[in-house]
Amino acid sequence: MNSNIFGPQRCEPPKKALEIRKIEFTEVYESNNTVDAQQQANRCLSCGSPFCEWKCPLHNPISKWLKLAAEDKIIEAAELSHHTNSLPEICGRVCPQEKLCELACVLHDTTGSVTIGHIERYINDTAFAMGWRPNLSHISSVNKRVAIIGPGPAGLSCADVLIRNGVNVVVFDKHPEIGGLLTFGIPSFKLEKKLMVQRREIFTEMGIQFQLNTEVGTDVSLNELLSNYDAIFIGTGTYQAIRGNLPKKAIQGVFEALPYLIANTRHLMQLSNPNGEPYINLHAKRVIVLGGGDTAMDCVRTAIRQGAKQVSCFYRRDEQSMPASRKEVANALDEGAQFHFNMQVTEFVINEQQQLMGVYAARTQNGELENGRYQVELIKDSTFFIEADAIIVAYGFIPHNQIWLDKPLIQRDKYGHIIANRNSPFPYQTSHEKVFAGGDTIRGSDLVVTAIADGRNAAEGILLFLGV
Ligand code: SF4
Repeated sequence: MNSNIFGPQRCEPPKKALEIRKIEFTEVYESNNTVDAQQQANRCLSCGSPFCEWKCPLHNPISKWLKLAAEDKIIEAAELSHHTNSLPEICGRVCPQEKLCELACVLHDTTGSVTIGHIERYINDTAFAMGWRPNLSHISSVNKRVAIIGPGPAGLSCADVLIRNGVNVVVFDKHPEIGGLLTFGIPSFKLEKKLMVQRREIFTEMGIQFQLNTEVGTDVSLNELLSNYDAIFIGTGTYQAIRGNLPKKAIQGVFEALPYLIANTRHLMQLSNPNGEPYINLHAKRVIVLGGGDTAMDCVRTAIRQGAKQVSCFYRRDEQSMPASRKEVANALDEGAQFHFNMQVTEFVINEQQQLMGVYAARTQNGELENGRYQVELIKDSTFFIEADAIIVAYGFIPHNQIWLDKPLIQRDKYGHIIANRNSPFPYQTSHEKVFAGGDTIRGSDLVVTAIADGRNAAEGILLFLGV
């Protein structure tokens, strides 16, 4: 391990060779080996008031499980990490640590932050590989039933806390595998799908029941669930794409980010998709991705792995304003993506067969400051034409229409988010006393770890409501 005058330096596990990861849908980072994980964990200074724990949305006891990892007490570390996190092996992989726990590490500006995410992943992967599983044998049933609608991070975390308190939990999911966007939205080069299969098996062993391929509103109504369960949690996310000022009509060659990513994952998992979006293969295409968030990076890197001829990302603000994780932007650059900042597509150019030929784009600059953010202004006479075979729109997501929430009425705000009161006597309760909600469906598109925090907090609200 390298050192400088301040002590041993941060060292991340190696990434797979570039020529491999540009074509493979497998995780980019190798796992830490035991020696490296212990050395890195041992760099933690065990601060009296660990800022990393405050910055983590779950307030994980990071310094304690780092100490256990450094001492090779992996089972104890995994037990402890599960006290505050329902999906620690997932967070270790997909959290933007450089904006959260690792940003707050006191070593950040000297020898580099402790590699908290990689060690969280190492602890839990190793414990699972050793056969460790959460032990709920001491828990007695409290004779209450809760239905969870939506098997993403919020729903799974709510189920985890409830089952640990003796509540019977059934999770309803329209897909054939749990995870929501963890399975179908996040590409497998960030999160391999076998992890969610492992998670389903672990949760099933803990007693959570999964009713897959069952869509609430179609196969079972909300009223039926209300009759059969003591409470309900909704964590159905946000799936409606934002199109900005772009035309909404269908154009051959213009795709929305989520259907593109979901269809690609289903294709890789060899799952049929009779009613969903078809698989889109961008091999040999000139691709432009519009947007600057993590979903845009996922699309860029998926197109690269599909063998696209050229992949560009157009973002309408400057590089510093880009919301995507720096780690993901750096990976996309390594893999060959081109970035164009302060660039906005203004028009799609199509031929008579409604097929995309290219786009007009204009350069942008900062305009008026509004709510702490500069508005985007197009620079006069800066428009130019660029040829493209495919456009992926990744501007973000808003709540999708869920008409089954109308009977009985679960109130939503003007944007379609379910209104759940985090400060009510029963936190996260909606307009219906038996119905709770959390995650993106109440707050808009956000991080996996924030959804986990919501799901866990909502479970506490449900337990209070049930008098458990
Ligand atoms: Fe860091 Fe995320 Fe783990 Fe919290 S859950 S310690 S923010 S990687």
